[in-house]
Order: sequence, then C-alpha cells, then structure tokens
Amino acid sequence: MTDSKEKAQPVSMDKSLFGSDKNPTHILPTKLTADSKLKFRCHPGVSCFTACCGNINIILTPYDILRMRKGMNLPAEEFLLRFTTPVYLEKTDLPGVKIHLDENGRCPFVTEKGCTIYPYRPTTCRYYPVGMSYFHAAGSEGTGSEEFYFLVKEPHCKGHEEDRVQTIREWRADQGIDESDEMNKEWMEIVMRRKSFGLQATLSEPAKKMFFMASTDLDKFRDFVFNSTFLNIYEVDEETLLSIKEDDIALMKFSSKYLSSSMFGTNELKIKAERIKERAEQIKREQGDMEKRAMETYEELRRERDQLKESIEKKKKAEKKK
Ligand code: SF4
Ligand code: SF4
Repeated sequence: MTDSKEKAQPVSMDKSLFGSDKNPTHILPTKLTADSKLKFRCHPGVSCFTACCGNINIILTPYDILRMRKGMNLPAEEFLLRFTTPVYLEKTDLPGVKIHLDENGRCPFVTEKGCTIYPYRPTTCRYYPVGMSYFHAAGSEGTGSEEFYFLVKEPHCKGHEEDRVQTIREWRADQGIDESDEMNKEWMEIVMRRKSFGLQATLSEPAKKMFFMASTDLDKFRDFVFNSTFLNIYEVDEETLLSIKEDDIALMKFSSKYLSSSMFGTNELKIKAERIKERAEQIKREQGDMEKRAMETYEELRRERDQLKESIEKKKKAEKKK
C-alpha cells in the first residue's frame, strides 16, 4: 500500500484466517473485487504514522515466518522464541503463532521511524486497510473457495483522507501481496478446510504438534523428513528430495502437501505401495486373530452350555428315580 518504503503497514485481520478484527464495526459492509477502487495512502507524513502497529493480533503464516527470519538472519527456533506467541488459528484447533507484542502492546518491530522489517513484513501488515476473506463451502475440496475483499476504516487511520486512488489489484501489486498469497496458498487452503469442519472434529495431540512444527519451524520439519522413518513411508521422488534438502520454499510447499495428505487423506503425497500392503496384511492378521478369538469364545460358551444341559438332565433323571 504505502509509497514509503520505511513505513509500517499495520494490521489487517483477514477475518476468516487470522482471527477477529478487534473492531469489526469498522469493516465496511461492501464486498469488493480486485477492480474496486481504493482511496488511501500511508506514508511517514500522516499524523497517525505507526499508530496501527500496536494492540494488534498478527498471525504469521509459514511464509511470513520464513521471510522474516531470513531477513533477520535467524534460525526458526530463535525467531519463534524471541518474537512469537503460540495461538490457535481462529475457529480451528490448529496451533500457530502470532507476533509477540511488547509490554506496551506494541509490535516489537516498530520504531518512530516506521517498520524496521518493512521489506519482509508479514502478509497481514501488507493488506491493511484491505482485508481478504474466503468463502469456503463445507466439505468442498481444497480449491473450492471464493475470494473477496473488504475495507477496514478505523477512525485513527488518516490514510483514508489522502487523495491517492488505485484499484485493489494495483494495491496488491504495490504491497507484494500477490507473492505472499501465492506462497501462502496451500497452507491457507488447509486452514480453511479444517475450519469448515468446525470444532466438533478435533485433531489428535500428535497431529496438532505435527501441524505446528510443519507450519512454523522448517528446520525441524526438514530434520523430521530426513532423519525419521518418513522416507520409508512416503513416496518422494529424487528431484523433490534434492530440492527440499536445500530450498526452504520447496520444503515449505512440500510441508503443505504432507499436512494435506495426513490430515485430509488427499493424494498429494503417496504412501509407498509396500507400506499399504504391510498395513493391509496387518489388518488382515488382526481380523484373523479376532475371528479366531471369537470362535474360541463361542466354543467355550457352547461347552459350558452342554455341560449345564448335561447336569440338568442328570438331575432330572436322579429325581425320577426317587
Ligand atoms: S511488522 Fe512492521 S508493519 Fe507490521 S505491525 Fe510490526 S512494525 Fe507494523
Ligand atoms: S493508521 Fe493508517 S495511515 Fe496511519 S500509519 Fe497506520 S495505516 Fe498508515
């Protein structure tokens, strides 16, 4: 959005993915498209400069985390410890992280000169004051969602009084949102799909931990892929293996495929045929054992019943003789 490269790009809460906007009444009730016009400009000269970088909830996507920590030259673990707080993603049982605000409720990256991490600021900050939401039909496959935009107009934000007019499409290009969305796409689809299930169907604790690791710490996820039984279970071709070993973006995309396959049973990552065969044989063996046990129980009950019948007969005969 802004034409200043030093300036902070505050919060936009995508209501569907990133938690409730703290001021839902400031969301204008008009559904916007990429061609809708936006009258807005944010720059260091506005009287409210950086006012919006506090008391906010900025959920980080896997790409946000990767881009921010690379920009700061930090390993994932250190970045997460220093700058984030664990949260559940809105209306899901999926664990994620948000930016940890300082004791004054301000973003740790804001100074009076603006955002100190502006080139690698999170997606949410790029969007503001535009929000994007998905409409995702319950039960539909991953790509069955419709996007639309809305405008957040908060009284403290004076950017709306500026004269610049552009389309949402131009705004998106200016803010680097297209790239962020492209990178976040698969992960967003997983979150939206999970959200469409509602809270009735809860994930197991190991599944939650796996989602958290794959979504926040690619260093650990890489270790998991290469140093566990993962590659004995899943079919991963040589080319993919080579790329995910070195390339964090490739690994991030791969982690979404893995999450989608393990959480929703999609076919994006295939389990090796021999593993499926082994599992089928194990189930068969277990079923065979169950049938055997059922037969044994039946035989035992039959013997007991015969013995009982025999003793009743004996008793009757004895009584007749009397
Ligand atoms: S990351 Fe930058 S733009 Fe976003 S809230 Fe923090 S200081 Fe503001
Ligand atoms: S409140 Fe609006 S105009 Fe002011 S700094 Fe934040 S985004 Fe820019």
